Amino acid sequence: MQFEELGLGAEVLRAVAEAGYKEPTPIQQKAIPTVLMGRDVLGVAQTGTGKTAGFTLPMIDILASGRAKMRMPRSLILEPTRELAAQVADSFEKYGKYHRLSMALLIGGESFKDQEAALDKGVDVLIATPGRLLDLFQRGKILLADSKLLVIDEADRMLDMGFIPDVERIVSLLPRMRQTLFFSATMAPEIRRLADKFLLNPKEISVAPPATAAATVSQYFQRCGQEPKMKRAALRRLLSADDVKSAIVFSNRKRDVGVVHRSLVRHGFDAEALHGDMPQPSRMATLDKFKKGDVRILVCSDVAARGLDIPAVSHVFNYDVPHNAEDYVHRIGRTGRAGRSGTSVTLVTGDDRKTWPAVVRLIGRDVEELPGDTEAAPVPTRETREERPARGSKRRSTRSRSEEAEAKPARKDKSGGERKSRTPAREQEGQAVTAFGDDVPAFMLTPVPNV
Ligand code: ADP
Ligand code: MG
Repeated sequence: MQFEELGLGAEVLRAVAEAGYKEPTPIQQKAIPTVLMGRDVLGVAQTGTGKTAGFTLPMIDILASGRAKMRMPRSLILEPTRELAAQVADSFEKYGKYHRLSMALLIGGESFKDQEAALDKGVDVLIATPGRLLDLFQRGKILLADSKLLVIDEADRMLDMGFIPDVERIVSLLPRMRQTLFFSATMAPEIRRLADKFLLNPKEISVAPPATAAATVSQYFQRCGQEPKMKRAALRRLLSADDVKSAIVFSNRKRDVGVVHRSLVRHGFDAEALHGDMPQPSRMATLDKFKKGDVRILVCSDVAARGLDIPAVSHVFNYDVPHNAEDYVHRIGRTGRAGRSGTSVTLVTGDDRKTWPAVVRLIGRDVEELPGDTEAAPVPTRETREERPARGSKRRSTRSRSEEAEAKPARKDKSGGERKSRTPAREQEGQAVTAFGDDVPAFMLTPVPNV
């Protein structure tokens, strides 16, 4: 199928051709005509399937006629993270280059003043994270009564990060007569409930998970001692292989992101760090450098990386086995994209005797072992009955809360006080208690320098 068959206008088609896209992806084929008809859409498709163009392209055509009024955006796109919001803004710029649509990006970590000035002029498209949008709304800087087109993107991510109450509040401020497009990578019961609540007779579009991870990524694991020192040494050896052109290193705890990053730099590796606590401009700058190839290795946490579109990474290294097996699939999905081949290597220690078998079970195939630290304890790759984590077990909810802690540091609640977390500090750092204990050298705990 061709883009020309979807009903898009000539200018959008030109911009798409210039973006180099030959054919619409499956979700685009189904979503674009439906959105152009004015119908609600419930789209379920994994990261990397082209959802962004699936909603931005028809939106550009829909918004091409009409004018924005001051402080009353005509359409609203909600994104769970600042990076994702920025990526959607980039897509609007790219695909909308032959239109004169105005756009504002409302994300935390950037100046209110600039964002307010943009809103004052009136915008066709407002792209926002829920927290910042509500802040501005509560200060009377924005009216949502004219937003007749709403996109809720990455709904399952919103859920993981604890944003659903904010999203519900925002939706209640929008007009009832509107078109709503709702996208999620998964369809958990809570997501289904929201979809039922927000959408009116939607067209449901689901796309089979792309044959990503399993088919295009060569996956390996390597046994390793559980002391951080040993893990860092093993990581350095892996990163030194000739075929490692660009790599993402994932760690479970944001503290380790800093520690691993600094250690790599000290050993002469070309590395940068990305984690949820970094100020927005430096996160963007880091990501840009990595995208351009100015830096070869990116060390990051799951929250910082989720959904980011980072092209052509040759290797993914899991410094830790993720607590949640699904995160493994997301992590290795950073390589082997767009038909390219990729390699992932996971360091597995004695601490991972439960989490690693869960990963192997989820991906449903054996992962080859690379010769590594022969001293390290053997690691099971098959789980026994007792080891299998129960569905919806505590592990999962702990992860969600610890991610939330990373995603939303110290948000004030309505009474002005800071929200208390129910999770003990140690659990928030990540579930496992590391061998580092409290003996981390002080210099390693100093903040990552902003580049
Ligand atoms: P999702 O939102 O589903 O995670 P994105 O919209 O971010 O996925 O798209 C993933 C990548 O695919 C992006 O790099 C985007 O430029 C690219 N892409 C999107 N649509 C097409 C297409 N029709 N042909 C080729 N590449 C595409
Ligand atoms: Mg997306």
